[in-house]
Amino acid sequence: MYLIRLDDASDHMNTERWERMEQILDENGVKPLVGVIPLNRDPMLLEFPEDPFFWEKAKAWQDKGWRIALHGYEHVYSTAEGGINPVHNKSEFAGHTLEEQRRKIREGLSVLQVKGLTPDVFFAPSHTFDKNTLRALEAESDIRIISDTVANDVYFQDGFTFIPQQSGKVRELPFKLTTICLHPNFTSDAEFEEIDVFIKAHSGEFADPMSIAETTRKKGFVDIAAEKMYFLKRKLSSLR
Ligand SMILES: [Zn+2]
Repeated sequence: MYLIRLDDASDHMNTERWERMEQILDENGVKPLVGVIPLNRDPMLLEFPEDPFFWEKAKAWQDKGWRIALHGYEHVYSTAEGGINPVHNKSEFAGHTLEEQRRKIREGLSVLQVKGLTPDVFFAPSHTFDKNTLRALEAESDIRIISDTVANDVYFQDGFTFIPQQSGKVRELPFKLTTICLHPNFTSDAEFEEIDVFIKAHSGEFADPMSIAETTRKKGFVDIAAEKMYFLKRKLSSLR
């Protein structure tokens, strides 16, 4: 099965491209997991004009069955750490004290809740977080599901259910559950076309994000092999 994850929804976004993405998903009956940035201070994203209707839109997404995730706090990188899932060596969370991470989770969550959003999944900017991020989520929220890491299927570890996230574009992968992470703000016309074609070709293979429940399944051999392969490939391509 595939799961679509949309990153970087906030009150500063490319509204037109988000609408195009929403239209493609609606037409194909696919619901995504969508990551909302509570207090966007990312200079790259602040180049998009403020959308005064953003919070109403996000609430409408939630009401029609899109699953809302807490996506960091300000989306600003302040450490050079990769943490548990070192996809990049920069983070808003990994490397910070538990106290600082608790503050970010607490304040971020409160912004979303005031707007009527009830996120029950977390993913960090650049996919980077550490054990303190998990402890901070435990202390400050009811969120017990993380979207990120590489594995074959959903698994349980350190008190959390992990939904693996293995691809940054639409493509066929052999995992039991593949999360395809898309960034509507920066999706080109050609990529929208590709996404539409892929979704149509794989109709019936998209998981309803709300159906992914907490699990007690432990990581198995296939999950560990997938993770090792992924990071080995990344390492080799960075050496080129
Ligand atoms: Zn992001």
